[in-house]
Amino acid sequence: MLEMITEQDLKVLIKEDELQNSIKQLGEKLNDFYKNEELYVISVLKGSVMFTVDLVKHLKMPLNMNFIRLSSYGSGFTSSGKVNAVDISLPDLNGKNVLIVEDIIDTGLTAKFLIDFMHLNFKTKSLKFCSLLDKRETRKVDIEPDYYCFRIGNQFVVGYGLDYDGFYRNLPYIGYLET
Ligand code: 5GP
Repeated sequence: MLEMITEQDLKVLIKEDELQNSIKQLGEKLNDFYKNEELYVISVLKGSVMFTVDLVKHLKMPLNMNFIRLSSYGSGFTSSGKVNAVDISLPDLNGKNVLIVEDIIDTGLTAKFLIDFMHLNFKTKSLKFCSLLDKRETRKVDIEPDYYCFRIGNQFVVGYGLDYDGFYRNLPYIGYLET
């Protein structure tokens, strides 16, 4: 049984305007990098949905949006350490520019799983990984995002797509539980 948390238990870690400014800057960097080349975005559900939707609004190249679903967190605060592919159906990505969009890199196991999956199944023109948040201290595999918006410490965060037992994804800011 999970402990109930309420919005009053949460402290704001990253405010809505900070999120939006940083995402806009990332969009500009990506526009510079890809110029007007076609881009295939792969958004990892459910956590990166808010980030993806806000990010792609800043992108100017011809863009093909895809969603896949993985799971590594069962319920609660810690990663299960095992990545499951829930739905990973994708178009033919051979010869394409591919950008994977994640909410947060924690242990790095999900990112590694996805990058290995891509290399195994496709010969992409380019493959980049971007994450809204980078939780460096908890890394279990040697992996770095090509782009990230914020580096955070070892704390469990919710909001802006990130959940606790399915809740809080709708918050427009990133919050954490004060322990
Ligand atoms: P990793 O495979 O890097 O350990 O974890 C990636 C996934 O774990 C993320 O996509 C996210 O769903 C979940 N996750 C990791 N840290 C947090 C956190 O602090 N809060 C929430 N809500 N989910 C997290």
